[in-house]
Amino acid sequence: MITQNVHALLDALYTLGKLSEGGVYRPVYSEPWQMAHRQVAEWMAQCGLRVRADAVGNLIGRIDGSVDGPVVATGSHIDTVRGGGRLDGALGVVGGLIALSTLRSQHGQPRLPLELIVTCEEEGSRFTNNFWGSLSIVGEADEKQANQHHDVDGVTIAQAMRQIQLDPARIAQAARSDIGWFLEMHIEQGAVLEQKQLDLGIVTAITGLTHFRVTVTGRADHAGTTPMQIRNDALTGAAAMILAIEHAARALGAPAVATVGRISVEPGQANVVPSSVLFSIDARHPDRSQQLQLCADIRSELYRIADERALGIHIEQLTEHPPVPMAPEIIHAVQAAAEELGVSHQQMPSGAGHDAQIMARRCKAGMLFVPSIGGRSHTPAEDTAPAALERGIQVLTGALYRLAY
Ligand SMILES: [Zn+2]
Repeated sequence: MITQNVHALLDALYTLGKLSEGGVYRPVYSEPWQMAHRQVAEWMAQCGLRVRADAVGNLIGRIDGSVDGPVVATGSHIDTVRGGGRLDGALGVVGGLIALSTLRSQHGQPRLPLELIVTCEEEGSRFTNNFWGSLSIVGEADEKQANQHHDVDGVTIAQAMRQIQLDPARIAQAARSDIGWFLEMHIEQGAVLEQKQLDLGIVTAITGLTHFRVTVTGRADHAGTTPMQIRNDALTGAAAMILAIEHAARALGAPAVATVGRISVEPGQANVVPSSVLFSIDARHPDRSQQLQLCADIRSELYRIADERALGIHIEQLTEHPPVPMAPEIIHAVQAAAEELGVSHQQMPSGAGHDAQIMARRCKAGMLFVPSIGGRSHTPAEDTAPAALERGIQVLTGALYRLAY
């Protein structure tokens, strides 16, 4: 039975798209992505699943139920970031395969259909079109978008699809209305579980995210002749603001997070007082009112500092995604399975985005996390202790049993 060794399956997937500098890269519709697609389809068939690919290249393995629906689905994504690790996406695919195979051999036909859905594109690492696979399933992807997004070589999604015999005119056919539940297993990508020495996280909500672009305007002056008291230094103002952003998230407390990850300075010369600074803010909270509070706190601090230092400021909100709560029914199913198996666990939000947040628009969605060693992810260092990984798959199996049988 191929599914007896989860680690061998993960190792096999990790050879596809391997980079010489370490890690893998499986951008959607590329050759390594197709190899992984074929490999997983082959494993699905060996496990007795009925295999098909939809109009955008999501891969689906199915066990029919004694009644026709709604479908109980599990799965994750097969694409990776550049230099990605062994588990991001792959664990939910391999874990789901093992869960379905185990359920079929131990319990026979389920009451409701069971599906492993391998989404074709989650990371957006080729076309900056995050969640392309799951958006197609919920009916929110179309040919127009496929013609808009292009990779660094100028190839559009539509062109890349045609190269592998997928017809962008058929994208709407990937939409589904028959999925009742979607439960995704994933690595935590943070260090909360490790710090608490727990084997499992049950996701209560996927965090809300707001992105801002801030422009701070001062005045360029000679760095040698302009006394400190009369400067309008945009960069020292921005520095105070960045510290205030950090303080705002700390003051609100975990799981609030706020990050300034990008900054540019004009005119960017060693002997000129900076005239303007542009920086990004990424602010997240899994509770809607706290998300709004965090953003309000940050805004008021930024205006206060700009005022205090006589600087111009323009705060532009680029994106705002409210938190996505996970379905209580799935949370309960995962919790019951974890308790029955004696797996240590806690409820927690997800600080990262996942396909489950898109699937939640059309069905009951949920997630379970296994610990990330050192909290590492999107790097070849990404790993989970083998025993914790196996326990996670057992809980996934138990939760799917509760939903489908
Ligand atoms: Zn992922």
